[in-house]
Amino acid sequence: MSSASVQPGRIRILKKGSQPSNGNAGPVVYWMFRDQRLRDNWALIHAVDQANKANVPIAVAFNLFDQFLGAKARHLGFMLRGLKQLNHVMEENYQIPFFLFLGEAEETIPNFLRECGASLLVTDFSPLRKVRNCKEEICRRVGESVTVHEVDAHNVVPTWVASEKLEYGARTIRTKINKKLSEYLIDFPILKPPIRKWGLLNQVTDWDVIIAEVLRKGAEVPEISWCEPGEQAAMEVLMGSKNGFLTKRLKNYSSDRNNPLKPGALSGLSPYLHFGQISAQRCALEARAVRKASPEAVDSFLEELIVRRELADNFCFYQPHYDSLQGAWDWARKTLMDHASDKREFLYTREQLEKAQTADPLWNASQLEMVHYGKMHGFMRMYWAKKILEWTKGPEEALEISIYLNDKYSIDGRDPNGYVGCMWSICGIHDQGWRERPVFGKIRYMNYAGCKRKFDVDGYINYVKKFIMRLVYVRRRWLWRLQFGLLFQMIRSRSTVTLRLVVIPCA
Ligand SMILES: Cc1cc2nc3c(=O)[nH]c(=O)nc-3n(C[C@H](O)[C@H](O)[C@H](O)COP(=O)(O)OP(=O)(O)OC[C@H]3O[C@@H](n4cnc5c(N)ncnc54)[C@H](O)[C@@H]3O)c2cc1C
Repeated sequence: MSSASVQPGRIRILKKGSQPSNGNAGPVVYWMFRDQRLRDNWALIHAVDQANKANVPIAVAFNLFDQFLGAKARHLGFMLRGLKQLNHVMEENYQIPFFLFLGEAEETIPNFLRECGASLLVTDFSPLRKVRNCKEEICRRVGESVTVHEVDAHNVVPTWVASEKLEYGARTIRTKINKKLSEYLIDFPILKPPIRKWGLLNQVTDWDVIIAEVLRKGAEVPEISWCEPGEQAAMEVLMGSKNGFLTKRLKNYSSDRNNPLKPGALSGLSPYLHFGQISAQRCALEARAVRKASPEAVDSFLEELIVRRELADNFCFYQPHYDSLQGAWDWARKTLMDHASDKREFLYTREQLEKAQTADPLWNASQLEMVHYGKMHGFMRMYWAKKILEWTKGPEEALEISIYLNDKYSIDGRDPNGYVGCMWSICGIHDQGWRERPVFGKIRYMNYAGCKRKFDVDGYINYVKKFIMRLVYVRRRWLWRLQFGLLFQMIRSRSTVTLRLVVIPCA
């Protein structure tokens, strides 16, 4: 570990504040959004650096939006459980207070800055429209003396450094990123504790109450149990001694990662990367350190983790229409429109697709994997989205449905990777033109027979079936236990009135 500070290229000044009239600087506030971690977080490192330089205190603020791109219990539960741990570690080990606000960040963040008299707001970077609009509004609403810095703590090479324009594909961005790796793929400095302690207003968050409320409101898409939230759990998935990706599973990455029957060949890091509970740069540094043992696997992993992931951020940053047909290249839009009225063999509604009621058992299995497991295998994601193009009225509807379903059920959804994944499958983004055919035009085509050649399709369908049966069994047992427990309590307290209320048939 070095003691260097954050490279200036990582930081963008969104607003330059005037000198405070009394000459005294106020505290630094880090509005955490995308990089929800203490460790290896360039935005937090920068915020603490700035606070220590000005000899002022620092606080971290997080805003839980009323609605964020349709997030449900699955997403919000995972996120808040991670933040609860983070709050604890930050206050215990670094004495940095953590403020959780509920509502719209455009209001809560400027209000907080005013209340604590902050001079500097640091925020992390997301290319998504909603977050960028929100930052613009915050810059308008904060006081004249407040400066706002944005730090790209998510990408190895900051998006605006990697390229100044919309890139055509992996081929065009790869060399640009690789050229910058020696400068940016470096070890993290040690996070220094703040010199001045926060002696201002404080907040105690009742996490359990807030979590219970989001679980109640978003119950339509329940939490998942296989993916433990938090920074420590993320490091365990990367490097754990039991089943860590780099420690135990890496060698199969190059050979098995396109086999949906072997999900363990993939890293499984996307939920943690999406919520920023682990830094991609940490994953890359650790992978590079073990390259000698499995060079091919590490190179393929780094291609996905750095080049493909950062290409997705490039697309969402430079293409305002990143989630609509308007964002496709001219050739793709033309070919899709030329074939928009081609006859489809099947036409399904969004409801039929959501309920996995198609004539294709492979597609149904992948949809159910996403709905119940919370993450569809990477290979199936491509097939899944392409079939939606084949079975809906046109590319606009296909795109809308695929994004809706991906964001609703995937634990790693609402991510630039998701928008680009759907745009790649349906609109040929970052791909090339292929032989023209009905419905797809020149967009790359995938079919059942191709999948059959690649992996054991029936094996995958059975694997998903078995998973769902196990899940239903576990849920039933849990319900029985809950009801039995309640019943037992009621009997003990001899409340016959309430006893009648709890004897309900189990689902
Ligand atoms: C239709 C469709 C929808 C998708 N939706 C999402 C999504 O909502 N969220 C999401 O994170 N990814 C999405 N992807 C990309 C990819 O499928 C997932 O990142 C990957 O399956 C996650 O599993 P993993 O972490 O085990 O992958 P690994 O293969 O272990 O990859 C490691 C990391 O590299 C990055 N990565 C891998 N593949 C890609 C890719 N094709 N494009 C960009 N980055 C990649 C991810 O950050 C991933 O976590 C989608 C792809 C498609 C075709």
